[in-house]
Amino acid sequence: MENETQTETTVGRRRRIILFPLPFQGHINPMLQLANLLYSKGFSITIFHTNFNAPKTSNYPHFTFRFILDNDPQDERVSSLPSHGMGAFNRLFVFNEHGGDELRHELELLLASDEDEHVSCIITDALWHFTQSVADSLNIPRLVLRTSSLFCFLAYASFPLFDDLGYLNLADKTRLDEQVVEFPVLKLKDIIKIGFKSSKDPIGQMLASLLNMDAPQRKTIVFFPLPFQGHINPMLQLANILHTHGFKITVIHAQYNSPNPSNHPHFTFIPIDEGFSKIVDQAATNRDGTYFMRYLNESCVDPLRDCLAKLLLDDRETIACVISDVAFYFTQAVADELKLPRLALRTGSMGCVLAYDALPFHSNKTCFCLTKEDSDYEVSVPEYPLLKFKDIAKISINPQGMGDFATNMFNQMKASSGIIWNTFKELEESALETISQDYPTPSFTLGPFHKYFPASSTSLIEQDRTIISWLDKQPPKSVVYASFGSVAHITELEFQEVAHGLANVGLSFLWVVRPGMVIGSDWLESLPENFEERMGDRGRIVQWSPQQEVLAHPATGCFWTHNGWNSTLESICEGVPMICSPCFADQPVNARYVSDFWKIGVFLEDGFERTGIEMTIKRVMMNIEGDEIRERISCLKDKVNVSVDEGGSSFQSLNNLVDYISSF
Ligand code: UDP
Repeated sequence: MENETQTETTVGRRRRIILFPLPFQGHINPMLQLANLLYSKGFSITIFHTNFNAPKTSNYPHFTFRFILDNDPQDERVSSLPSHGMGAFNRLFVFNEHGGDELRHELELLLASDEDEHVSCIITDALWHFTQSVADSLNIPRLVLRTSSLFCFLAYASFPLFDDLGYLNLADKTRLDEQVVEFPVLKLKDIIKIGFKSSKDPIGQMLASLLNMDAPQRKTIVFFPLPFQGHINPMLQLANILHTHGFKITVIHAQYNSPNPSNHPHFTFIPIDEGFSKIVDQAATNRDGTYFMRYLNESCVDPLRDCLAKLLLDDRETIACVISDVAFYFTQAVADELKLPRLALRTGSMGCVLAYDALPFHSNKTCFCLTKEDSDYEVSVPEYPLLKFKDIAKISINPQGMGDFATNMFNQMKASSGIIWNTFKELEESALETISQDYPTPSFTLGPFHKYFPASSTSLIEQDRTIISWLDKQPPKSVVYASFGSVAHITELEFQEVAHGLANVGLSFLWVVRPGMVIGSDWLESLPENFEERMGDRGRIVQWSPQQEVLAHPATGCFWTHNGWNSTLESICEGVPMICSPCFADQPVNARYVSDFWKIGVFLEDGFERTGIEMTIKRVMMNIEGDEIRERISCLKDKVNVSVDEGGSSFQSLNNLVDYISSF
């Protein structure tokens, strides 16, 4: 109705469109073709053109033409330039600099003379970036005609990044045939051929201005990961995801487990001195994880505040927010003090947050210490019936400390500007409902992050890739893959039981034994005698694997895991059934969800003991039960793919997050 009314008020008045092509053949053609199209739809057409490369007006008797004086022939910058190639481009730059007055003058004349005609808009070439401010000043809508491909536009949009990476002036000429990792359709030599030397030179500036015409300046997000592999991986994956959505990335990080900056040349890294290395050696003997978390939450306060304050002093305008791990609960107070929005990244599951929230860490500490001899050991915990008392006994040896840690973490999550979860809606739908009620701050479920960026790029330990060729020789779904993550420790006895279990089951296996994982051993010293010789080519032991690739390999039949959240998600994404051997913290909760809630794995109920190990592996690898589990986890794999695809829940949530951060 509104449109009809508008048309009535302009009845009797024709609508005129002004088009202003860039004066080069390849730009004039599509602009005049567009003009013809619009003319055929009933618009009157006026073409503005420069004296340089003026179109032949007699070919278009149905258009009116207005001549705009372009560069002053006396202007030395122009008269000395050739009218072709880069010379022509530089002419353009000069005109973009001073053409505003000429264009405004001609437009004013036109608006004053055409009283019977309503000027609908002006359409100008995308490279005439100066025309926007002229149109704005006269209150005329401007449409932009981009005469080239979308793909080329995306390549141009990457030029500031190429400049940062040194591709525009590549010193090492042996790299010319290398593919551009950030834009794989191009080789480095293609970028050089395009001809811009730097985003700071005149042409580069013109392009930057074209690209930024309507976009605000790129904002920076500051990341602060917890210095452990299972937390660094998802945080740097998230940083990469947001980088591809136009944000600049600065990573402030602890010296301990420092990421390798050369793996991320597009990020800025700033180390702070938290002194964690001084105490971390105790980790093999001190099993109280809360002690280490408390230490980090105290030792990082001053260095992080100083570092952030300095960044803000230099560049407050462009810093959008800080994203820190939820386990770094102290960061909320620092961000508040500096008046900087903080988003909290939860690298673990939602289910675990609900479980920690419900468990009586403070009111009934003894229930966390039950042993096999206690009658309640196998019984469900009333506060969270999915869990048994034997599960929560594994969470922490210090329930009071764990309760304090969880309380601090949850309070600061609630105080944050938003929570980012490395999970996807379809996996934890019911938990998401409760979280949305309990945590009023916005929640973003855009995981699994490794679907966008692999963990190999953020691995702190070198991954042994020789095993891929070994896997290639194994039949489909025949190999048991065993790995217990980057932090868990096991006793020598448990280690030997694992070895016997793997040997006795008779299947091929790939086993990750991290140096230092076995308490009291450097690496494999406590293996049963001649174990490796006896296993021969049937079993491979490595220090660290390319886990995602192993899980994606057709030969992998099941994943015997500690159920760290990343490992759990990686297994789901590849549809690989799990055998669950959780060690501590969130792992027992994840394991129960896997075995008893989603039913995509089997819990190794009695810990590391050879008979139980053999039976459990057989249930998954050789029984119909294993086939059913495989079917269920394949369904989840399909759901993950839908969720990260265009229009899916994670895809949508990522867009929401990008909009949200852009609004800061
Ligand atoms: N990982 C790996 N190679 C290995 C074992 C693990 O690259 O041999 C990676 C794995 O893909 C995951 C991370 O290390 O991304 C471990 O995180 P998780 O949350 O599963 O466990 P955590 O190490 O925190 O206990």
